[in-house]
Amino acid sequence: MNVTFSLLAKNVTKTTFRNSSYSCKVLVVGGGTGGCATAAKLSRILKKNELIILEPSDKHYYQPLFTLVGGGISTLSEAGKSMRDVLPANAVWLKDSAAEFNPGENSVTTQRGHSIKYEYLLIATGLQTDYDKIPGLEAGLSGDTGVCSNYSAKYVELTYKALKNFESGNAIFTYPNTPVKCPGAPQKICYITDHYLRKVGKRDKAAVIYNTSLPVIFGVKKYADALWEICAERQIQVNLRTNLVEVRPDSREAVFQNLDNPDKMTTLKYSMLHVTPPMSTPAALQNCSELTNEAGFVDVNKLTLQSVRFANVFAIGDCSSTPNSKTAAAAAAQCQVVFKNMESVMKNTPATANYDGYASCPLVTGYDRCILAEFDYNLTPLETFPFNQGKELKSMYLMKKMLMPPLYWTLMLNGFWNGPAAVRNLLHLKFSQK
Ligand code: FAD
Repeated sequence: MNVTFSLLAKNVTKTTFRNSSYSCKVLVVGGGTGGCATAAKLSRILKKNELIILEPSDKHYYQPLFTLVGGGISTLSEAGKSMRDVLPANAVWLKDSAAEFNPGENSVTTQRGHSIKYEYLLIATGLQTDYDKIPGLEAGLSGDTGVCSNYSAKYVELTYKALKNFESGNAIFTYPNTPVKCPGAPQKICYITDHYLRKVGKRDKAAVIYNTSLPVIFGVKKYADALWEICAERQIQVNLRTNLVEVRPDSREAVFQNLDNPDKMTTLKYSMLHVTPPMSTPAALQNCSELTNEAGFVDVNKLTLQSVRFANVFAIGDCSSTPNSKTAAAAAAQCQVVFKNMESVMKNTPATANYDGYASCPLVTGYDRCILAEFDYNLTPLETFPFNQGKELKSMYLMKKMLMPPLYWTLMLNGFWNGPAAVRNLLHLKFSQK
């Protein structure tokens, strides 16, 4: 088969290849947060044609900013850059997606039917959002019906519209019955909405309701305690084990299932409905049981991030089986570990770098405040700053809004940010010596 195929990379406008199969030393599948950051590191030790990045999207989004876009604080254009501009120049970008992983043959088949042979593979496909799995949801999101979702570039701008259009009634926020990226984000927008409605004098006409499938408000007790207090103080009603199963946009109704008593359904009227959709790994992973666990996540050693079955395969970010909170902050802490271990394996030495499960979640609780949750695999707080981060602080809000985006675009995506461990060690040493 002789196929015209476009290879695009940063600083390279367009190169046309006539191939149906490719081979490389390292293949990175997914050029999002984890894939792009690790590819930048790998690009410094490999020659250009040795590193292929397989990524279908033209746009790379800094998704943590979506929370602020939903709140009308940032714009969608600030959250995205052209993929061409963020992927490392010293790599080949195949603009296509993985359709089939064949780890026994060290190859990946793409959606357009191309085959890529690799010596080492890094899987970084993230999680896909399954809006179609909730009947009526996509119809609700297609019009001006008060239904919105910060979880997609396609829908995030509906959130601020719904906020501005809100007059009275129920403002409902949901958390699905699947693993999600940024488990704090479904409630951040709830606090932002509460604050917005207070600012415009409509809060007394609203019932703010957070319906979550989880049995807890947040996985780490220290921060959960603080969040329960905030909900009580701001009269936010929290319903645990309550899962959205249907949206009826015509009548503005949402149907919830009680997960502890599945026959019990509750129908609520809404004026605003912010939905965090169910999520899953892409079909190509779900269909490859050699690589994945039962839930379709790439089965890796939780310390080394190396596949438990294929020594030349690694995973980073949301698609891996590691039991950490799925965040960009976690991917930052993982990328140096993955890079070091891939480098070791390439030199025929054991993978010894370890990931401690670090994740961070800036729990924005209003237009000027934030609780910066940071913790490890044991759900033990692992705070960067030598003060109590379990309190709502303006400084942490400003950090989320002003500091994190440039840090992401300039340091992280270029492979120079491995999470705050070094800063934490420095600050804690300094203060403990006092
Ligand atoms: P992604 O960055 O999602 O990248 C995956 C890439 O893989 C995409 O580019 C995709 O196009 C590509 N891909 C998918 N399928 C295929 C395929 N078959 N073949 C090839 N490529 C494929 N994190 C924080 O740390 N702090 C926050 O405050 C925060 N807030 C968030 C708020 C929201 C609303 C959202 C949506 C996310 C938030 N996150 C936050 C989470 C963070 O964005 C993700 O955890 C992070 O982006 C995961 O990185 P990743 O590389 O695993 O996946």
